[in-house]
Amino acid sequence: TNGRMAGKVAVVTGAGSGIGKASAILLAAEGAKVALLELTTDTAEETKQEIEKAGGEAFAIECDVSRPESVQAAVRRVGETWGRIDVVFANAGINGAAAPIETMEIEDWNRTLETNLRGTFATVKYSIPYLKKQGGSVVITSSINGSRAFSGTGFSAYSSSKAGQVAFAKMAALELARYKIRVNVICPGAIETNIGKNTFPSDDLKKIAIPVEYPEGSHPLEGRPGKPEEVAKLVLFLGSDDSSHISGTEIFVDGAESLL
Ligand code: NAD
Repeated sequence: TNGRMAGKVAVVTGAGSGIGKASAILLAAEGAKVALLELTTDTAEETKQEIEKAGGEAFAIECDVSRPESVQAAVRRVGETWGRIDVVFANAGINGAAAPIETMEIEDWNRTLETNLRGTFATVKYSIPYLKKQGGSVVITSSINGSRAFSGTGFSAYSSSKAGQVAFAKMAALELARYKIRVNVICPGAIETNIGKNTFPSDDLKKIAIPVEYPEGSHPLEGRPGKPEEVAKLVLFLGSDDSSHISGTEIFVDGAESLL
């Protein structure tokens, strides 16, 4: 196959929806073989069908990134099936519990951190034995929430997990440079995906919440939230050799939203 990702194998977590799905489709369109890791394979199978319809190659693997042993098994399957891993897109994430800090349940905090932050760690950790054989690229999906606060959202756990991903990416970029593994982190602003469906607002939040609707002018560039396909183009750039000298960088893809 031709394309910027020809001959490469990519692992994408959260590949059944939103940013992961769009990125998997674009990576495959550019010639990568793509492993589609998802909580349940139903949605990942839909992504696989879209990729195959366009002439690409992919397979769906059930994987819960909040369970390290599940990640280890899934990554091993990719390595055994295709013999190599070049690109890892650690993208799966949840909004999780939205609640005031005072009343947020410990289990809810843990669930968000275990999925978003520890899940990223596990995805990278278990991919290293494959990536280091020939070098590679890791892309991590954080958020503009990783570096700024939004009042009334109850997103202390989410924001903490997203900030942790940025710090982790920088540590990983330095630590893995000796293996020619690049690591970069992307920070999307509001993107139209299904992520709102896994937000669990508490009743208490209503007492402190400023309505989480987008005030006029909050999308300076286009006057609308971003599209998953617009994030996918950045993932392709960072995953491909076009970004050969870029590692340890945090890149915003938010239409200038974070400047407000
Ligand atoms: P999405 O809900 O459309 O897609 C996320 C996918 O991840 C889903 O298919 C979901 O099933 C999967 N997933 C959730 N938990 C998982 C787990 N434990 N194991 C495996 N897969 C799991 O949402 P999205 O917006 O595409 O989210 C992707 C990433 O983008 C997340 O890390 C999110 O925090 C980040 N992000 C999204 C936005 C936004 O506005 N949509 C903004 C900034 C950052």
